Amino acid sequence: MSAQTKITRISALQKNDLLSLANSSLKYWHAKLQHCAYKTCPLPEVKLNQRGRIAGSAVLQRNVIRLQPMLFFQNQDYYHSDVIPHELAHLAVYHLHGKVRPHGVQWQNLMINVLNVKPLVTHQLDVKAAGIRTFSYACRCGKYELSAVRHNRIQKQSQRYICTRCKEPLAESLPIQ
Ligand SMILES: [Zn+2]
Ligand SMILES: [Zn+2]
Repeated sequence: MSAQTKITRISALQKNDLLSLANSSLKYWHAKLQHCAYKTCPLPEVKLNQRGRIAGSAVLQRNVIRLQPMLFFQNQDYYHSDVIPHELAHLAVYHLHGKVRPHGVQWQNLMINVLNVKPLVTHQLDVKAAGIRTFSYACRCGKYELSAVRHNRIQKQSQRYICTRCKEPLAESLPIQ
């Protein structure tokens, strides 16, 4: 164990605080849609039920934004500045254009020109600090950190993951004890 205290659970009270924080952030970003073609997009609902290493996701057909509660709890500024506008943009694009490429030209235009947010598609948040378990895998050309879900699929032999660069299957790299 590291000296840093690891928080792996958040209380119901903290969840309530996170929800109201997310909702006021969402209202701030949603207000920015009012002066463009996206103004007809209804205010989405926020749920704190995203699991794993994913910061957040958008449930397009239900107009719901799912946030990973532990990552949100530990990175609140980043969620306001990046994750919430990112997911809102997905929902607004779906509302106006239907099913198009998720990080395609409409989404990028909305992020850059309306919301004024860098259109990033990956995050650098500390998933270990958020108590999210990862498993180390390697191929010929590098290392990967996989989520518990992916790790379990590989262990059950129901799925293989191929490195996009060297096309080799990933194998678990275990530490020397
Ligand atoms: Zn996205
Ligand atoms: Zn590789």
